[in-house]
Amino acid sequence: MTQELFDRALRVTPAGVHSPVRSFKGLGRAPIFFKSAKGAILFDVEGNEYIDFCQSFGPLILGHRDKDVEEEVKAAISDVWSLGAADPYSLELAEWIVENIAPVERVRFVSSGTEAVMSALRLARGYTNRSKIVKFDGCYHGHVDSMLVKAGSGLANGQSSSSSSGVSDKQASDTLILPLGDEEALEKLFAIEGKNIAALIIEPLPANFGLLPLDIKFLEKLRELTQQYNSLLIFDEVISGFRLSKGGMAEITNITPDLITYGKVIGGGFPVGAFGGRADIMDQIAPSGAVYQAGTLSANPISMRAGLATLKKAAKAGQYEALNKRATYFANELRNIIKKSKLNIELVQVGSLLWLCSGGQGLSIKSPADFPKNIQEGFKPLFLALLNEGIYLAPNGYEVMFLSHAHDDEILTLALSKFERALARLTK
Ligand SMILES: *Cc1c(COP(=O)(O)O)cnc(C)c1O
Repeated sequence: MTQELFDRALRVTPAGVHSPVRSFKGLGRAPIFFKSAKGAILFDVEGNEYIDFCQSFGPLILGHRDKDVEEEVKAAISDVWSLGAADPYSLELAEWIVENIAPVERVRFVSSGTEAVMSALRLARGYTNRSKIVKFDGCYHGHVDSMLVKAGSGLANGQSSSSSSGVSDKQASDTLILPLGDEEALEKLFAIEGKNIAALIIEPLPANFGLLPLDIKFLEKLRELTQQYNSLLIFDEVISGFRLSKGGMAEITNITPDLITYGKVIGGGFPVGAFGGRADIMDQIAPSGAVYQAGTLSANPISMRAGLATLKKAAKAGQYEALNKRATYFANELRNIIKKSKLNIELVQVGSLLWLCSGGQGLSIKSPADFPKNIQEGFKPLFLALLNEGIYLAPNGYEVMFLSHAHDDEILTLALSKFERALARLTK
């Protein structure tokens, strides 16, 4: 049945999917077609169940169809679907964010993380009247044209070229790329280009190309240098925001970026993105300022209410600590299982984010330069063996795993036994 659905999908959609990682490319089988989900469990069209460690790539911090959020969504649907006008629901979510996240004095809602980044970059350029943006190799910021770039010859000098057909090298040339963690390269680039740099954007916890926790001193250096050169610092917290703690990495590091972008958890599974930050910068957005930005479905009331219900519940006293503690326990148990299996897998964990890095054990991975060469080759058998046991990971070796509040002790114990069996079979 899966193959039949996939064959049909291939006839009407490029590669049969609506976002590239969903395609199971290189994994030797058709993608699973899921039809429903509850908590930590996914159900496919053939009646199989899986413990879900993908969680829609991160939005579902409470798990699928949390009962409180579901109630709110049902109520929301019977009130209004879309307004394209001022409303109290987006106001409530905006107030909650401004109240709880110190660097965010003003916020505007959009419909995806990509849109949030695109708008924040335009705002940074408009505010500073400069054109260059600095990004880091190994950070993902959505499919914004200027962010689809790769390092040119010699990563340390910042030069970049387009990494996607359809993005011209001219568009790419306004983006400067640096290696993560390299203070020297950073200082050198700012010394040369500083007065042209509108903003530096970074995932303060890079989690889209493996999981690459950064030294807090490096993040502090970014704050210092951008301030010195009057460039803006943008934290892209689309993945880390409301995931690691209520205030995300800005709170954890105690660093105040000028702008922050959000997505994923902020909508609790509905399409929401947001960008916010310093009032004087945010007020440059139309119609109070000259930087144009708009959206027909921006601040959709169903999404706003689902988002607020999710954030409030996730932020209840002790909840982040409990989730992170359970994830640490799970990661440690899983490390023991990996060690026993002698498989070449390294597990990186930060809060409820975990990355299984295939192709190396005992590695210290700080940037893509440290990646083992055979991550995807190692990931394929691991992914398929786990699938066979009823464990679903994001179908790509560079993607992280997400734990949710629905991954309770019972589910995690079950998951560990499944991991143990899958890894034992791989070792044979
Ligand atoms: C997911 C992600 C994006 C893109 O968000 P979409 O909602 O997929 O457009 C941007 N930046 C980061 C850090 C992300 O994790």
